[in-house]
Amino acid sequence: MGRQINICHLYPDQLNLYGDRGNMLALSCRARWRGIGLRIIPVEPGDQINFEQCDLLFMGGGQDSDQLLVAADLKKRQADLRRTIEAGMPVFAVCGSYQLLGNYYTAVSGEKIGGLGILDLYTEAGDKRLIGNAVISCGLWQPARTLVGFENHAGKTYCGPGLQPLGTVLKGFGNNGSDQKEGAVYKNVIGTYLHGSLLPKNPWLADHLLVKALEYRGQDSFLSELDDTTEIKAHHAAVYLARSWRHRMGSTRV
Ligand code: GLN
Repeated sequence: MGRQINICHLYPDQLNLYGDRGNMLALSCRARWRGIGLRIIPVEPGDQINFEQCDLLFMGGGQDSDQLLVAADLKKRQADLRRTIEAGMPVFAVCGSYQLLGNYYTAVSGEKIGGLGILDLYTEAGDKRLIGNAVISCGLWQPARTLVGFENHAGKTYCGPGLQPLGTVLKGFGNNGSDQKEGAVYKNVIGTYLHGSLLPKNPWLADHLLVKALEYRGQDSFLSELDDTTEIKAHHAAVYLARSWRHRMGSTRV
């Protein structure tokens, strides 16, 4: 039997901002081009799901109101998710869902939304949104590689001392606009503020996730080379835009 990856896409209708769904397209294409089967299982609030079937969990970003819509359902899945994440399930979580993997998010309204407490971090909305194209240097590879994406968040995230950042901010705001850190990595969980979609223009991160998903299921994780000329052009164009972008803090009144 050929190789197969099952991706659970948690709350695709509620958590999907700034092209997050494109991450699924990038993973699907890059798997298919290598003859790897890839199935995306959408999971809506209330759906029964056995995370044991899941080789990679993806969650996109969401406005404060969207986070509130899913927070209670997510909480019911806390024990299951904690168990599977501790066992090494790869997770890729963007912005609003990255915040929900932490201890809490205090929204712009002042309402405190409880998180899963799986990542040792908390997030509090500031009075300005952190908006722009961001570039980070990411240590998932040696030597480090750049990742470029779009961020737009009110939340400022502060990580505990034991939590590794995904990268160091070269341009943009990252977790909180002050400590130059972006995202977090814990076991096989990657949390980030970068939308955009992120994966089509950072194909090395897409492949990293495919490898993690294959390894987690004990499958051969060799990935053949693809012709990434277009993706690399897109990456460089986005980095150029980010570097020439005048970063601003916007109003949180959206
Ligand atoms: N609602 C969150 C914030 O503004 C997340 C936004 C997002 O996912 N882009 O901080």
